[in-house]
Amino acid sequence: MSQHFLLSKAARSLSLARVARLSDDEARATFQNIRWSNTDGEPVCPRCGCLGVYRYQTRHLFKCKGCQHQFSVTSGTIFASRKLPVRDYLLAIAIFVNGAKGHSALQLSRDLDVQYKTAFVLAHKIREALAAELDNATVEGEVEVDGAYFGGHVKPTNWVENRRDRRLKENQNGKRRVVVIMRERAGRTVPFVFKAEGESLPTIEARVHPAATIHADEATHWDRLHALYLTRRINHQEAYSDGAACTNLAESFFSRLRRAEIGTHHHIAGPYLLAYAREMAWRENNRRISNGEQYLLAANAALAHPVSRQWKGYWQRAASG
Ligand SMILES: [Zn+2]
Repeated sequence: MSQHFLLSKAARSLSLARVARLSDDEARATFQNIRWSNTDGEPVCPRCGCLGVYRYQTRHLFKCKGCQHQFSVTSGTIFASRKLPVRDYLLAIAIFVNGAKGHSALQLSRDLDVQYKTAFVLAHKIREALAAELDNATVEGEVEVDGAYFGGHVKPTNWVENRRDRRLKENQNGKRRVVVIMRERAGRTVPFVFKAEGESLPTIEARVHPAATIHADEATHWDRLHALYLTRRINHQEAYSDGAACTNLAESFFSRLRRAEIGTHHHIAGPYLLAYAREMAWRENNRRISNGEQYLLAANAALAHPVSRQWKGYWQRAASG
């Protein structure tokens, strides 16, 4: 598909510093090269696929000769209806992929000198585009399955006699969710969010190859996995690894997600928990490739991703409803 530009020397040399020095025309040309890499940057109508287009030089718009559709380099992508100069989107992507623990919207708003609201939505759009590679992802081979709970924190009271057992369901605030991951040894991590760990079984069955070996802990709801997969169990009360079964890789993913929560986003629970978990999975899954390549992968994903139903016009909707 669009590999040849990504593999080119011009592509690999797109460092953060270089992106920051691009003129808007150069940034637009870069966007075109990434989005329409099959045609060497020549625009293709996003509506009908026609190659014949008129150009409006002054307004940086194209018009399809076939269907008359007018479009820009970002029309029909995750950056549709953009408000900022094109270069700022390339910068946002570069900054986003550079933060190994994630990058807060507040920091991004300072870096780009834009409003917090703008940075918040922009970061979520990038997150959504990156996570799309996980949409139909399956895992195979040796697979660790594990869950970790986030959110629903009930503040402990100061007086011992007022303290409640926060492990009990009636003492939680209902916002608690569990991130369940399926993680290949030496492969990729695919996360999901559920109300309870046991609810993940149908998803596991859909995403884990039938010939895989699953590693899971002693929780009783995993007993049902034995009927579906060769399953190894590890009892965390006794040991973290008995040599044959272990979920250490899953644990390390969760500790990274918790560090992102504590160090960067502070509250990642609630409606965005899945988005953050998928972002961290993307970072994890692409950690071996260079920053420059991660950047291009992300830019490519953003321009290949359709308009976001969740994030397009987010603040307008929030204000009116
Ligand atoms: Zn057209």
